[in-house]
Amino acid sequence: MKWLANLARWFGDRFLPRYRAQFVEDLPDHLRKRRVYLVGEEGAAWQAALLCPCGCEAHIQLSLVEKDDPSWRATVHQGGLVTLHPSIWRIKGCRAHFFVRRGRIAWARDSGIALPTGHH
Ligand SMILES: [Zn+2]
Repeated sequence: MKWLANLARWFGDRFLPRYRAQFVEDLPDHLRKRRVYLVGEEGAAWQAALLCPCGCEAHIQLSLVEKDDPSWRATVHQGGLVTLHPSIWRIKGCRAHFFVRRGRIAWARDSGIALPTGHH
C-alpha cells in the first residue's frame, strides 16, 4: 500500500497549510496566511509573528528573546518550513492552542476552538 501513502503525502503537501519563514526587519501591517515572520536580522530574530491558524485572523506575536518569559524558539528547516517551540496558546479571543512543527499546525486537544475534523 505504499502508493496510498505516497498519494496521501502528495495531497497533504498541496492542501495542508505549511508555514514558511520570512525574515523581515520590520513587521508588516498586513500579515499573510501560512507565513511566520521572523523580525530582526537573519539568524538573530527577536520576534516571531503569524496569523492565528484557526482563521480568526488575530495577530500572534512571540518573543524569541531567551530571557523573556514567555519566549519561544524558532527553527527554520529546509524549504523555509518553521518549527516553533513550545506550543502557542492564546489566552484571549479564540483560545487556540497549537504546535507549529516543520511548517505544519498540530492542534492541541485542549484547544478552545471548534476544530475541523481531522486536525487533531
Ligand atoms: Zn484564532
